[in-house]
Amino acid sequence: MKLHEYQAKEIFRRFGVPVPDGSVATSADEACMTAETLNGPPWVIKAQVHAGGRGKGGGVRVVDSHDEVKTATEAILGQPLITKQTGSEGRKVHKVLVEQGVKIDQELYLAMAMDRDAARPVMIFSQSGGVDIEEVAERSPELVLRESVDLETGWMPYQGRSLAYSLDPLPVPETLKNLMSVMDRLYKVFMSLDCSLAEINPLVITKDGKVMALDAKIDVDDNALFRQKEISALYDPMEKDPLEREAERNNINYIRLDGNIGAMVNGAGLAMATMDVIKMAGGEPANFLDVGGGASEEMITKGFEIILGDEKVKAILINIFGGILRCDVLARGVLAAAEKVGVRVPVIIRLEGTNVEEGRKILEESNLEFMVAGDMAEAADLVTRQISQRIQS
Ligand code: GDP
Ligand code: MN
Repeated sequence: MKLHEYQAKEIFRRFGVPVPDGSVATSADEACMTAETLNGPPWVIKAQVHAGGRGKGGGVRVVDSHDEVKTATEAILGQPLITKQTGSEGRKVHKVLVEQGVKIDQELYLAMAMDRDAARPVMIFSQSGGVDIEEVAERSPELVLRESVDLETGWMPYQGRSLAYSLDPLPVPETLKNLMSVMDRLYKVFMSLDCSLAEINPLVITKDGKVMALDAKIDVDDNALFRQKEISALYDPMEKDPLEREAERNNINYIRLDGNIGAMVNGAGLAMATMDVIKMAGGEPANFLDVGGGASEEMITKGFEIILGDEKVKAILINIFGGILRCDVLARGVLAAAEKVGVRVPVIIRLEGTNVEEGRKILEESNLEFMVAGDMAEAADLVTRQISQRIQS
């Protein structure tokens, strides 16, 4: 689960990681009132959305007057923020963080992440911060340093020194000490909150030598939320894709992807296999959707609605192995859904398992034109052919 910057900074504050003074606002008036309580000018207005690269997209604005606080907030709240991560659709912004501006001397990068290969947390540090760290890692990998954490001992002072003393030119001792203290505390945040990522980009050295987290990104492992009640309470449903939200409400496992072939499958393993065969046939899946092993007719209907809710979808592949979910139940669910939402794209169905004959019969006798495939390969082939025909015509 991702946290907003303002939420992550609240946590940093509690753990003693220095952050600029500020608070969140949902309107231009509220932003002005907040600015009045902060030292400034300058103030910084920052869009609160789960997407990096807000700076480049106009989601971070440094302003010098109350009028500008107002216009900047109105501009940010008024239109979807488009960044590399949100794609061209952009993301609606509901909140801004109003902060006291900071005079930056140097922008660094600091993060604690999970190193899956080593099965250990790793501290990542770079003196080239404030920019896309993946780009730095590609262009000049020697500028991105790593320290792996031994969980027997925890984060060790020598590791902090090894990272901090890599800075060139070397800052004054006080600044180095503050930097190492931020590393200690970031490690504590990471461990205490079951994070998969705790990132500060940029971590700045200010003109007066202070070390401060200007940005904050915390990602908490979903599997730990049962023991992170306080974090779970910070969940912001507005940040989720509307279709994913709808799926979640109905207990359907659905992840939206970039392709144009919608897939409805029962069982996560079969869903992954289905995405593989779609890819192998030259197609691109529009989603991962698992209605679950024991799906009801209502859930099939809902799943169908969700898939069709994605305008990119140009054809649908339904791949069901009837075990607990009987094929006749599936067939009736699909018909009910088709009637309810109207089918605007070709639907290819592959059915196997319990009551398969009855299921096929129900589909064949309906007046809707479903294509029934004999096996998975044929289904994938049919669905990709539908797509290429549609593109050509
Ligand atoms: P991101 O683009 O979504 O990662 O948003 P950030 O919070 O990292 O802000 C982007 C950039 O805005 C930073 O790298 C800084 O250069 C700049 N910025 C943010 N806050 C301040 C501030 O208080 N003062 C100044 N001068 N620049 C700031
Ligand atoms: Mn940033």
